[in-house]
Amino acid sequence: LLLAYDPARRLARLQINLERAVVNARMIYEILDEQPTQGDSANASELAVGGGEIEFRNVGFGYGLGEPVLENVSFTAEAGKTTAIVGPSGAGKSTLISLVPRFYDPSSGQVLIDGTDIATVTKKSLRHQIAYVSQQPWLFEGSIRDNLRYARPDATDTEIEDAARLANAHEFILAQPQGYGTMLGENGVNLSGGQRQRISIARALVRDAPILLLDEATSALDNESEAAVQKALESAMRNRTVLVIAHRLSTIARADRIVVMQAGKVVEIGSHADLSATTDGLYARLQAYSEKGSSVSADATPTNTDS
Ligand code: ATP
Repeated sequence: LLLAYDPARRLARLQINLERAVVNARMIYEILDEQPTQGDSANASELAVGGGEIEFRNVGFGYGLGEPVLENVSFTAEAGKTTAIVGPSGAGKSTLISLVPRFYDPSSGQVLIDGTDIATVTKKSLRHQIAYVSQQPWLFEGSIRDNLRYARPDATDTEIEDAARLANAHEFILAQPQGYGTMLGENGVNLSGGQRQRISIARALVRDAPILLLDEATSALDNESEAAVQKALESAMRNRTVLVIAHRLSTIARADRIVVMQAGKVVEIGSHADLSATTDGLYARLQAYSEKGSSVSADATPTNTDS
């Protein structure tokens, strides 16, 4: 426990969090970047859209010359289904997700969408198929409408309002001083954490892409807000291929498939019922651990991997 207060460790942790915040902002910017041609191969093709099945095939990855962060990861997130990724902090969950929009390319193996290696398609056509909801919703200074339309500049007002309704956000938006025209940001209104999350989910719905990458929030919301966000997520997840970094037992239990990661490797795959039945597995241990706390991918690992 004392180690947790070591200043150097705290600093290292802070740095990682900062880097992650930058990556999260990049995810939004780059997903919508109209010209992300850097890194496209000369004869890159357009990704043909199917159901949006995502396959990780023997994927390995490391940041720069550092230690491998992912090793030989193989699994398929089926089209139209929800695949939850769980595991202790540092297991590589966010890194794995960031390979799908190609913020990074694997150092070995492939990521395939509907059978096509995504290294062979244009980033633009790839990212058109992806919506992303981060843990910390990123909203910019501008009206609520602008923040929603950012996901798809040609969306009509009606489409924006329909998405907000599905995301359980329409009512609270109308209750703001200027409704959809209400300004957010430093000089605008402050929304609660749950409201920000619902705007972010509505934005993913405006985008209307077949693949949804979701980094579930760990921060606690009050019960009412939590229920509203859950309802919004259910709408967003319906009929999409969802890859979710899951922290809440309710999300995990409802997933079609759960991929358990530890130290860059997939250690278990199965349904909630399958994995719960394996009492000596990591999933069962994480679950037992989370019953004492609130988050299944608790920051502390049940087994001490730190020393
Ligand atoms: P958490 O649940 O805490 O978000 P995670 O399972 O998502 O963890 P990752 O964030 O993918 O894990 O991190 C896996 C490893 O890669 C960690 O050791 C982390 O320090 C390292 N890492 C993550 N992002 C970067 C980066 N941008 N540069 C260098 N190393 C990184």
